[in-house]
Amino acid sequence: MLRGVGPTVKRRLGKLGLETVRDALEYRPHRYEPAAPERRIVELFGEEEAVIAGEVRSVRLQRARRLKLVKARVADDSGEITAVWFNQAWLADRLSPGLQVRLRGSLRGRDFAVRSYDLGGVSSTADFAPVYPATEDVTVKKLREVTGGALEFARDVVDPLPAELKASAGLPARADALVALHRPRAEADGERARRRLAFDELLTLQLGLARRRQGQELERARALGRPDGLVKRYRDILPFELTRDQERAISEIDADLAGERPMERLLQGDVGSGKTVVALYALLRAVEADRRGALMAPTETLAEQHFLTVEPLCLELGVSCALLTSSVGARARRAAPNAQIVVGTHALIQEGVELTDLAVAVVDEQHRFGVEQRAAIKAGRRPHTLHMTATPIPRTLALTVYGDLSVTEIAKPPANRKPIVTRWITEDRASDAYRRLTRLLKDGRQAYVVCPLIEQSETSRARAAEQEAERLRAGELRGFRVGCLHGRLRPDDRRDLMASFKARELDVLVATTVIEVGVDVANATVMIVQEADRFGLAQLHQLRGRVGRGAEQSYCLLVSRRREELTEGAVARLEALVATTDGFELAEVDLELRGEGQLLGTRQSGLTDFRFAKLRADRDLLEQAREAAEELVGYDGPLNDEVERLFAEHDLAA
Ligand code: ADP
Ligand code: MG
Repeated sequence: MLRGVGPTVKRRLGKLGLETVRDALEYRPHRYEPAAPERRIVELFGEEEAVIAGEVRSVRLQRARRLKLVKARVADDSGEITAVWFNQAWLADRLSPGLQVRLRGSLRGRDFAVRSYDLGGVSSTADFAPVYPATEDVTVKKLREVTGGALEFARDVVDPLPAELKASAGLPARADALVALHRPRAEADGERARRRLAFDELLTLQLGLARRRQGQELERARALGRPDGLVKRYRDILPFELTRDQERAISEIDADLAGERPMERLLQGDVGSGKTVVALYALLRAVEADRRGALMAPTETLAEQHFLTVEPLCLELGVSCALLTSSVGARARRAAPNAQIVVGTHALIQEGVELTDLAVAVVDEQHRFGVEQRAAIKAGRRPHTLHMTATPIPRTLALTVYGDLSVTEIAKPPANRKPIVTRWITEDRASDAYRRLTRLLKDGRQAYVVCPLIEQSETSRARAAEQEAERLRAGELRGFRVGCLHGRLRPDDRRDLMASFKARELDVLVATTVIEVGVDVANATVMIVQEADRFGLAQLHQLRGRVGRGAEQSYCLLVSRRREELTEGAVARLEALVATTDGFELAEVDLELRGEGQLLGTRQSGLTDFRFAKLRADRDLLEQAREAAEELVGYDGPLNDEVERLFAEHDLAA
């Protein structure tokens, strides 16, 4: 427990996650403030940040519009100046004539604007100092006190790293690193300390994952032997040749399925790269062996979409196939688990299908489940599992995030694809976008219009989409057949709508982001995204992936608000989308723009919320940690406690 902290401060610190001495020791400064030179008052000049030391002569409180200013006359042996604090009215009581102060700040007009200060004899303000993520009620100054107090105990911290490893990796002791983190002599010290602590973090995760891998070695699945007649017929009915990447993915899957070790493979590939075709192959391998296959999707819409793709192929092959979602009628739901291939939402398949019959499970968009649920699927029963994701992340990162999976990548889309042409248009010229869209409609193509993301709830989004569809029917899209797809449609209506769009009975789908994943209509070759600046990069890329799915040239027209209304980040996102259609490249850009700790958006959870590690900058460390983890799988020592702590917090017994 932190000492010398009253209940109010304690509560406030609690909000920052600071409860124990350990928390305080591990509270990372997000930057260090450089030392500032000391100046005599007469020597102050320009905008230079400097420190003055002197005595308070007088104090007053002033209101200027909404601001409360504390002004104090401060004198040293060279002269006098008015020091100004903004919105810290309570300070007026603590500043009294005769008090010695040290103030850090800079000239603003004839006054001295104070950024930080020491009252009485203390002097830390001028020094090179850590700056902590603070809140309104917990100042950086307070945090310096708290972490400073905790440092007394730094020597009591157990160093989890074996000594040989520290020596070979050239890492400082953990206690030294903690001291240097909070009290570095120079910036480089702080960085070296951070890397040591980051290494611990990465190693802990890697070790936990390595052990889990090892634990899985004891688990058994049914070996499915070699591919047979059914998948051969499947290849024959596909209207295209599989690409080299798809073939490679399939042979890796075949190799996995041949053994008794349950497959745990991540199939990552950009939107439209042809993952679903591969996934269905894996499911048919289960059917071939007289077992079942299940395709699990995170949402009903996505499950329905998959079903629309999978069912016709199954019919042609004489394989029974059923949809299992909460909106499917009770009778059909009872029957579904008997089908050879079941497509549905994750939760329902879990409940409904006897997993001993389940030889292959495909889990789509796994990042949406987070690592935790993934572990839950596994508990006890072991089908071979293929995880699919269209949010490609760089391979080294995939190894960390999904360290216990084998990774297969479909890097190249089918060769007949033309790269999608992407244009960024500001809304004052939106009519250009609609002109281009209607021209393509007249050529027999179909289109999507994606509504802005402004609305909070699914219901108000649905309403806004309906209104927008109405507006377009009367305006820009007059004479065309316009449907509206949103998350509040009854499932039957949604299925009908998609089916009629597929059958070309509609020209345009006005939609909310429910079309983000899974919708697959090759003749839809143009998309307008309204207020595209409000969307995240990954999301725009996903949306864009709804077009460009056939041999025709496709277009994605990003309509944003006016340039002067856009943030720097929004401009960078839109420019990146225009510059490349490569999802891997965009994932890198996204990482750069969003910084660490948010790799896959807020939905990604837990295990990879690093405090010290920076995934991009620390790739070398990550590799080192991974190697070290392999060596240390059987190691018994303080590191184990760390592993247990991490995995227990996230409810993932290793
Ligand atoms: P993903 O699931 O990766 O988004 P899909 O498997 O849905 O991609 O494939 C996208 C589209 O490309 C589908 O219309 C599919 O029929 C088509 N497709 C898949 N593989 C090939 C291929 N080898 N050649 C031509 N078209 C393909
Ligand atoms: Mg797909």
